[in-house]
Amino acid sequence: MRIAIIGAGVSGLACALELERHGITPAIFEQRNRSGEVFAHVAGILQLMNRPIKDQISYLYRRLKLPLRPLAPLKRIIMHTPNTTGSITGRLGYLFLRGQDEGSMESQLFNLLRTPVFYNHYADWREMARHYDYVVVADGTQQVPRTLGCWQDILNTWVRGATVLGHFDPHTLTMWLNTKYCRSNYAYLTPFNRHRASLVLITTDSYPDEIEKKWRLFWEVEGFDYQVVENFSLQHVSGYCYPPQAGNVLLAGNAGGFLEPFLGFGLMAAIRSGIYAARALARGESYTGLTRDLRQQIIRALAIRRVLNSLTNADYDRLVRLLTAPGVRQLIYNTNIDVFKFSTILLTHLERLKRKIRPRM
Ligand SMILES: Cc1cc2nc3c(=O)[nH]c(=O)nc-3n(C[C@H](O)[C@H](O)[C@H](O)COP(=O)(O)OP(=O)(O)OC[C@H]3O[C@@H](n4cnc5c(N)ncnc54)[C@H](O)[C@@H]3O)c2cc1C
Repeated sequence: MRIAIIGAGVSGLACALELERHGITPAIFEQRNRSGEVFAHVAGILQLMNRPIKDQISYLYRRLKLPLRPLAPLKRIIMHTPNTTGSITGRLGYLFLRGQDEGSMESQLFNLLRTPVFYNHYADWREMARHYDYVVVADGTQQVPRTLGCWQDILNTWVRGATVLGHFDPHTLTMWLNTKYCRSNYAYLTPFNRHRASLVLITTDSYPDEIEKKWRLFWEVEGFDYQVVENFSLQHVSGYCYPPQAGNVLLAGNAGGFLEPFLGFGLMAAIRSGIYAARALARGESYTGLTRDLRQQIIRALAIRRVLNSLTNADYDRLVRLLTAPGVRQLIYNTNIDVFKFSTILLTHLERLKRKIRPRM
């Protein structure tokens, strides 16, 4: 079977590795000269977002055969809102290096691969679909599914960030929620080590010049005095993609809509969808069926996103107080209950109830 993979990012590389395990050598095309974004940054995989998986590293190793090393386990999350600061501690997930440096998730995946990658090669999916039996589109964008008519936009965000120098705890992720500089989204800091960190502001539906204003306001309001060593800015679109396969074209990672619209996390889903695409092709299984759970997660995240869109600063204060209150903290972080699943069910019922009791106009 001749298979082409477009994109040697996390989902494309995971797909290639799984195909190799099934004795298939794919042709992998990557437009850059290396895998990974040109700027290094630190990404989080949160235990809470991936339940019922208890430990992502052991899941990646045992279930997906990917021995990946994180930068550090995530042991603490600090949440700042305008009038409250709360924190949670525990086994909260992992921090991963991203980008082109040695040790990044992309470099680790690439080092596991035996098949060569055609770097500096921009691939045209239509041409690939004509010349190969199957094409896995893992290009990190919504362009192909949009053209195929199986994409619906959910959220258009700008990610404005920088690598900063200061003093950090390598096991702590810090979050800020404040409508002054990011309505219905958030900012975060993830450390590379004790002296270097990624500082990122995510804004929704903003124009490029507004983003710079919001970025400056973020620094001013929070009173940072970090030294900036690198700046970056990029657009992110999350959407719902169905079906994730059209003819001989399979859509994986962000291209398959597997970037959740609540916090903008997509790493685990990118890896899993890449692997499922490979399994579907190698074993003759249904890709749509294999990815059903991942789409359910997107739908759940969307329900929570809708609530987040309507929150004010006073709501953020209350939310953080609630999330870090001792009893709730124990229930949410020290058990393996799928909080997202249950909150979505609750939110959907509340929405239905609200609709029922809304007075007729
Ligand atoms: C700043 C930032 C922070 C993030 N933080 C987190 C986080 O903390 N946790 C989390 O879970 N997720 C996070 N995400 C989201 C996560 O990075 C993505 O969901 C994930 O990388 C998607 O993987 P992918 O393989 O689909 O796409 P990508 O990783 O973007 O890879 C796509 C690849 O395809 C290549 N390509 C594109 N078009 C072509 C073409 N025509 N021909 C050849 N090659 C092509 C690109 O160059 C790229 O290398 C973050 C994203 C960003 C930008």
